[in-house]
Parts: sequence; C-alpha cells; structure tokens
Amino acid sequence: MMSSKVLKLIIAITASFIDFWKHVVGKFKKIAVLDSDYVNTGCKKIIPKSVNYHFTRRCNYECGFCFHTAKTSYMLNLVDAKMGLKMLKDAGMEKINFSGGEPFLPERGRHLGEMAKFCKAELKLPSVTIVSNGSLIKESWFQKYGEYVDILAISCDSFYEDTNKAIGRGQGDKNHVEQLMKVKNWCEKYDVLFKINTVVNTYNHDEDMSEKILTLNPIRWKVFQCLLLEGENVGPEALRNAESFYISEEIFNTFLERHKNVKCLVPESNTKMQNSYLILDEYMRFLDCTSGLKLPSKSILDIGVSNALQFSGFDEAMFKKRGGVYKWSKEANKLKW
Ligand code: SF4
Repeated sequence: MMSSKVLKLIIAITASFIDFWKHVVGKFKKIAVLDSDYVNTGCKKIIPKSVNYHFTRRCNYECGFCFHTAKTSYMLNLVDAKMGLKMLKDAGMEKINFSGGEPFLPERGRHLGEMAKFCKAELKLPSVTIVSNGSLIKESWFQKYGEYVDILAISCDSFYEDTNKAIGRGQGDKNHVEQLMKVKNWCEKYDVLFKINTVVNTYNHDEDMSEKILTLNPIRWKVFQCLLLEGENVGPEALRNAESFYISEEIFNTFLERHKNVKCLVPESNTKMQNSYLILDEYMRFLDCTSGLKLPSKSILDIGVSNALQFSGFDEAMFKKRGGVYKWSKEANKLKW
C-alpha cells in the first residue's frame, strides 16, 4: 500500500507539471497571435482600402505650404516597394495613390511607372492614381505607362503665373499652366482620367478659377484648405513656415461659394483632411497626424500591415464622410458616370 505521504507528493508533482504546460502553451499562443500579423488590441481591424504612398520626399518645386517636405532623400528600392505593395493588397487595399515630393522626379518617372505597372498588371488593383505637380511629365511616359494609371491629379493653385511663382509652384522659366494644358491633352490621348488639386491659401483665395476649370473639365477638382502640420510646415523642426499661407475656415468657405457652379468641385477642409487619409511615408511607415504632428509607425515591411495600421490614426468614419470611396477606376468611370 502506498503511504499517504507518497500520494501527496505525486499529486503535488502532477499539479506543478500541469501548471508548467499551461504556461508553455499560453506563451506559444501569444507568439502565434503576434505572428498572425495582427495584434488584437481590442481596436476594430482597419482594412486599408485606399492608401497614399509618399514614396519620395524630394521635389523640384518649393511651395511655401508644402507639408511633405524633403526631410530625407530616402527611397525604397523597387523590390522592397513591390513587396510592401503586395502586402497591402493582401490586407485589402483596392486603391493606391502615388505621391511625393514629386513622384516623377526619381529616375525620371521610371520608378513610379514600374510601381504603377506592378499594381495594375500584377496585383490587379482596381485603382492606381498619382498626384504630381505635372512639371516633369513627358509624353513618352504616357506611351510606356499610361495604360496602368486610372487617374492623374495635377496640382494647380492659380492660373496666374505670378501667383504660382509667389507660392513657390515653379522651377526656372517653366510655365506651370502651359504644362498643365499639355498634361490634360496627354491624359485624353492615353485614356487616363484627369483631376486637378488646388490648395487655397493667402495668395489665391481671391481668385475666380471657375472659367478655366470648366474649360479643362477635370473629373474631379479637389479643393483643399491650406493645412499646418507641426514639424513639416510649422514649428522649429520644420523645413517650411506655412503660417503666412494659412487661411481661416471662413475664407475657405468664401472661395467655395465663389465656385459653387463648378459641379466637379470636391471641398476638403482641415477637419476633413487631417485623419481621413492612410499615409505611408518613404519607409512604408503609416503616419499618424491626429496630434497635429506626423508620428510614424514602424514599417509595414518589419511588423506587417495590420500591426502598423494600429498606429495610423486613421479615422474611417471621416474617410467615408469625405467621400473617400468613389468611382476611382477608368472602368467604373466608363460604366457608371
Ligand atoms: S509640388 Fe507638392 S511636394 Fe513639391 S513642394 Fe509643392 S507641395 Fe511640396
């Protein structure tokens, strides 16, 4: 017969053995969750449907209000960039917007063209769009890459060259407006939808742009209120001081009122703009602008898309409210507009 002392010892050893395995299994479970590319922080999982990838900060213009300034000259190589784009597609991305800096600057647009081609031809994204100042675009680029682009948005804040120069939208003797017309014609010729972006600021808020915009007939005219972002265009760390460009909501609304007959106008005030974009920087880090600063997450290439998204500050409700989901491909445009 086993003594009660031995029996107690066996029970104690068994209990600590079970505890030990519980601990080990728990740890493995934790690692599995981390590896699954999503840390469940209790937050709603964000699907990155529409992403703005500012892949370069370098630019040939010097707009006084620029809020994505040349703080670094870094750019991911094409292989890594494509890997990141594929990860975003796997996480639910439907629309990619390539932006800068000036996206046509690196390798005279080849880097941009190859990414657009990859997104459209290989990832089969419904929408590939670009925002550019337009100055470096050539017809040969459209011949090679036009078919991979749904929408090209060109920045134009004024139809007066003096105003453009005062803002900093210009390089040497190049005429910004003449180049805008050329790009518009190439868009038509190569079947790319044409869009115009305008930043309303102290230099152009009095202008009436209606007639010219109606002639150019873009699919969308996005009108932004000049935005101040600490560390980018305001504050001691910033490369620009945009305070003298800043206008109040009231002045912005007066500009909108003056152009109310332009049906393709889509206004975007600071409140709408600040957190309703998913912004990826040159390292593929999401930038959180909720605090008025741009706080970067870790790169999606290091921690995965879903983990990085938890630090993006993205306001999904505002994204929908500002009409973030629209007919954003050439096909949708042909079928339903
Ligand atoms: S064109 Fe765009 S990126 Fe270049 S300086 Fe102007 S606002 Fe900045």
